[in-house]
Amino acid sequence: MSLTEIDLHQQLKKYFGFSQFKGLQEEVITSIVKGNNSFVVMPTGGGKSLCYQLPALIEEGTAIVVSPLIALMKNQVDAIRSISEEHGVAHVLNSSLNKTEVRQVKADIESGICKLLYVAPESLTKEDHVEFLKQQKISFLAIDEAHCISEWGHDFRPEYRNLRSIIKRIGDNIPIIALTATATPKVQEDILKNLGIPDANTFKASFNRPNLYYEVRPKTKNVDADIIRFIKQNSGKSGIIYCLSRKKVEELAQTLQVNGINAVPYHAGLDAKKRSKHQDQFLMEEIDVVVATIAFGMGIDKPDVRFVIHHDIPKSIESYYQETGRAGRDGGEGHCLAFYSYKDIEKLEKFMSGKPVAEQEIGHALLQEVVAYAETSISRRKFILHYFGEEFDGETGEGASMDDNVRNPKKQHEAGGEVEL
Ligand code: ADP
Ligand code: MG
Repeated sequence: MSLTEIDLHQQLKKYFGFSQFKGLQEEVITSIVKGNNSFVVMPTGGGKSLCYQLPALIEEGTAIVVSPLIALMKNQVDAIRSISEEHGVAHVLNSSLNKTEVRQVKADIESGICKLLYVAPESLTKEDHVEFLKQQKISFLAIDEAHCISEWGHDFRPEYRNLRSIIKRIGDNIPIIALTATATPKVQEDILKNLGIPDANTFKASFNRPNLYYEVRPKTKNVDADIIRFIKQNSGKSGIIYCLSRKKVEELAQTLQVNGINAVPYHAGLDAKKRSKHQDQFLMEEIDVVVATIAFGMGIDKPDVRFVIHHDIPKSIESYYQETGRAGRDGGEGHCLAFYSYKDIEKLEKFMSGKPVAEQEIGHALLQEVVAYAETSISRRKFILHYFGEEFDGETGEGASMDDNVRNPKKQHEAGGEVEL
């Protein structure tokens, strides 16, 4: 298929109503419609879905989209259906469908109406699905959240490991598109290797978030008071506080409330009704602060979160980046404050001790990077971006002055040493 630039813009407008591509979207889409294997690395919110949705809508045949979460698939299918009047343009194929529904999905693929077929990796392993898809015109295969393939990623899924062999069975020459928001070189290497696409055209967006201010403070027994002071200095602003345990979430939320701060707890131990109530209150600005475990945040798009505080340091730089990334989505101020004590690292090490040795080794290596980040005296932005394989100019780079180490350089004897408690 040959598509000019103008065509793509027209299609973008027609299907999505947008007049501009975001970031590298146009380049990615051009690569996909040319039938190339492609690898897309963009931060969360970068607009990865459109990179495969638009080509799927304009190409002949059905694009298969592998996605790890049923909820994510459902959202996407609903969104696609709302932009296209054609019934059956997008489907989910999973174990929740009954026989009649499966037959309908397959009929829509055979007739060519179905442009996007969302599947969980385990549905793809089903023999009759593979046999069926083998006979169909498949435009390409997109693997969303492709980091699930790697043990070095934050969300390893063993089922993702078998994708390569299944794809081969469906068709040897189907272009593969892998997409992820995980920027570490190790995970990227794993993805390309596992999918057998070393030749993929790679599109990597910058992970720099110039409007975020990074700060690490030593964690003392007065950490709760430090947090209260910070919030009072930022009163009226929205923020998230991450804690490691549900117990601490409850305790801290209560402490904040007692101190006149409008805060609610959020963790997976709360019933679904309460969770969604607290989430809505935060989105509607009825409350200012959510104290949460990592259960909070996936898919939450509040543009004006002004601070993200880590009461406990997370287990990897990756997680830290994802969690702090929820601040300042609108481009406005976003203060990322982490409280750090080496004791917390030891605690995290201890949690891992029951796990298989290989997992422990990976976990340990990831934690050591967190220690290095917390204790560094160089620009924190430079550290994070270097971790993601990105060069950052600490003098002239965007956001270069936005961290504690740059604003208040440590004296030599303080730098790099252990934090005293
Ligand atoms: P990702 O998967 O990279 O995290 P999404 O695909 O969910 O990101 O897209 C994030 C948001 O960006 C969505 O609300 C989407 O509608 C929007 N978006 C994507 N492409 C464009 C565009 N070209 N112009 C405007 N908004 C866009
Ligand atoms: Mg996405």
